[in-house]
Amino acid sequence: MTDAAADGALLGESVHRQLRQLVLSGELGPGTALSVPGLSARLGVSRSPVREAVQQLIYEGLAVAVPHAGARVATIDDRQVCDVLAVRAVLDGLAAATAAVRVTAAELAELNAMLSAQEANLRAAADAARDTELDLEFHAFIRDRCGNRTLADELARMEAQAHLYRGDLWRSESNRRTALREHRRIVEALESGHPDDARAAAEAHVRGLITRLGRR
Ligand SMILES: [Zn+2]
Repeated sequence: MTDAAADGALLGESVHRQLRQLVLSGELGPGTALSVPGLSARLGVSRSPVREAVQQLIYEGLAVAVPHAGARVATIDDRQVCDVLAVRAVLDGLAAATAAVRVTAAELAELNAMLSAQEANLRAAADAARDTELDLEFHAFIRDRCGNRTLADELARMEAQAHLYRGDLWRSESNRRTALREHRRIVEALESGHPDDARAAAEAHVRGLITRLGRR
């Protein structure tokens, strides 16, 4: 890769990360038009990396292409988020079961550090954007240890889509606390090295999200 191509790839990645963050934090809420000229002015970059980042968001299910009108941030309703989570429960279980036999002591230490960060964020004033970031980071770490690219890619899309849901599923104090307890059980199961325990803990977390969704 030439230096210019490498710079372009880095810029593309950074623009994608920033846009994804704006969408997941709700700053660009569901249904918002993703105007390439508007976003390139806002981010202070040229249009081509923005165009590519928007395509990437469409691929991830975070945006939808509207014929003759560009792209918009995707919306997800109660039914759709339940559908996504029902599939995710099974796939997350599979990823955790596979990760349980591969995860190293150093990686387990990293997972425990992530739990501490989640705990600290819970004690601080509610910061939904940071919560989302920490949750995605935690699940990404586990699925990236499963050694199955297809599974990891599918899960990445589902995790991000679930966070598009705007409701107190991710916001209320008690839901956040319950999710942290479930995360802790996943890490304990990974520490035990038993695939069936890891599968059960990961599935229980996502099924818990579905239950809390229905209890609103
Ligand atoms: Zn979670």
